[in-house]
Amino acid sequence: MLIVGYENKNRDCGWAAMECARCKRVLPFRVTENTTAHSVYFVNVLKNVRVIGTCDFCGSSFAYDRVPRCKRRWRQNQGLQSLVNETAPELGEVNETAPPTDDQLKALLDATAEQASVYDKNVGPGMLCGGVAGAVFGVGLGWLAAAMGVMSTIGPDATPTLCVLSGVAFFVAGLFIGGYCDGVRKYRLRTLAILEDAVVRNSIDLTHLARVARLLQHRALPIVERLETSYSSPRT
Ligand SMILES: [Zn+2]
Repeated sequence: MLIVGYENKNRDCGWAAMECARCKRVLPFRVTENTTAHSVYFVNVLKNVRVIGTCDFCGSSFAYDRVPRCKRRWRQNQGLQSLVNETAPELGEVNETAPPTDDQLKALLDATAEQASVYDKNVGPGMLCGGVAGAVFGVGLGWLAAAMGVMSTIGPDATPTLCVLSGVAFFVAGLFIGGYCDGVRKYRLRTLAILEDAVVRNSIDLTHLARVARLLQHRALPIVERLETSYSSPRT
């Protein structure tokens, strides 16, 4: 018997200051090394190493050829300049206090939309609810149609046939509609959670974010506007 397997390991390398290709600015990156080892009889035969850096502002991830110089422990309150000095001194002085640029906010909106669309694709509960609701509606409609004399030519009582046909048709339609609605609902919730986290963590001005989203007619605009309203209205 041939025993083959694979092992996937993620190693947290720490933080590095790098220029984000999307934000077009030097920012802190969280760096991880992902190793996939394929083995035969417990002996590694193939090793695939990927270095991933994730921009702390927009959340975009990029692949690198090798692990950049990293600092194991770093926190935002230590300042970006200290991270630059330790991991990439060649980048020189950075303006830490400059507010996020339009490019950065666009990058955040784009990366959020991408992340939200790949998370939690399980729309089973929505399909089930839609299917059950559709079946109940379909059976009711079939019964009503029979009472009104539709298909009365097939026999003395067309009620069971009409109820079954209509029930099955609306059950199938309900599955699709329920799944779609659940997908949209989960996408919106996920977008809201990612954006809210980024807004709070980076003290983003929501009016500025909404302006950029409006300018781009971004798909995340309704969610940005929802955040803007909820943060501008007085909390009770
Ligand atoms: Zn970025």
